[in-house]
Parts: sequence; structure tokens; C-alpha cells
Amino acid sequence: MKNIVIFGAPGSGKGTQSQLLVEKYGLRHISTGDVLRAEIKNGTELGQTAKAYIDKGQLIPDSLMIEILATTYDALCPCSGVIFDGFPRTIPQAEALKQMLAERGTRVSAMLELQVPDEMLLERLLNRGKTSGRADDNEETIRARLDVYHAQTQPLAEWYEREGKRNTVRGYGEIEEINRALCTIIDSIPENA
Ligand code: AMP
Repeated sequence: MKNIVIFGAPGSGKGTQSQLLVEKYGLRHISTGDVLRAEIKNGTELGQTAKAYIDKGQLIPDSLMIEILATTYDALCPCSGVIFDGFPRTIPQAEALKQMLAERGTRVSAMLELQVPDEMLLERLLNRGKTSGRADDNEETIRARLDVYHAQTQPLAEWYEREGKRNTVRGYGEIEEINRALCTIIDSIPENA
């Protein structure tokens, strides 16, 4: 059982790399951004609440997000392992994930951090905005999301470092090359980690 947290700024390639890892390792994929966008599309109350934050590039409050994560996880698992993509984004979320998994007899095996310079992130997200149809892929919201990332999410890297789970990878260059680097790390995780 391998539970992986894929970590990085908006536009760092978490979604792309998650897909490749899902195919290779047969893991389940939980993207909290995708979960929220589905709620918005379905016009649910939760979707309406989430949209107000997403459109401003802000984070959904921790308590709500933690509840959504647990519901999503329990709908998919028990399973052979999960890639958490876009969660956790704050230290309280990381602590809640740790506790939630412990209550279910498992844990995060590794955190994989994709490191990409901000100018490159901005360029990638502006490009993605041309085709993604995502309301938050516009310059003003992208800049807000990057600010939120540095202020609220980046400090989590140190948290995972202290947990002994942090692994960093250069998140630019060829997609396959980045994927190989991630696979090398995953393959080196001890079975009981
Ligand atoms: P993403 O698709 O991961 O870039 O997420 C898009 C937006 O959804 C973010 O900018 C947040 O507004 C919201 N969101 C997704 N995951 C989380 C999370 N773990 N905590 C708070 N907000 C989130």
C-alpha cells in the first residue's frame, strides 16, 4: 500500500504526473480541485460555496476541505494506494490527513515535490487557460493562487521534511524525464513505509 502526496504550486504538473503514476502503479487518484469543479458543474450547494473561493484564487476553509477529503477517500478505499493531488495545502490539512489515514490503519508513504520557478508557472497557467476552460486560469487569479501557494502551502514542505517524507524533483524539462525521477523515488519506498 503506497499513499503518495504529490506536492507543488499551481501549474507544477501535479495532474499530469498523477495520471502517469496512476497508470503505472494502479493507484487511486484524489484531486481535490477536480472534486470541487465537479460539485460546481453539478450545481450543488457545496459547489456554490467552493466557487466563491476558487474564483478569487483563495483556499476553501480547512474544516470543509477535510470533510470533503474524508468522504472522497472513503468512497474509493480500501484500495491499493492513493495519490493525493492538491491536498493537503495547509498544515492543518496535513495533520488531518495523517490522522485520517492512521484511523484507517495506513499513512502517507512519501511526499513528492515538483519544483518549478514562478515565471514558468505563470507562463504554463496562462497557456493552459487558453484551452482549459477553467475560470481561475486568468492572470489576476493565477497571481493570487501563486501568492496563496507561497504563503499557505509552501510551508508544508518543511512539515513533510520533518516527517522524513519529503522528496524534491525538478518539475520542468521533459514530462517523461520528470516521471522517471518520480518513479525512482516511489520504487525506493520501503514496503512498510
Ligand atoms: P487545483 O485544481 O488543485 O489547482 O485547485 C483549484 C482550486 O480549488 C484552488 O485554487 C482552491 O481554491 C481549491 N482547492 C483545491 N484543493 C484545495 C485544498 N486542499 N484546500 C483548499 N482549497 C482547495
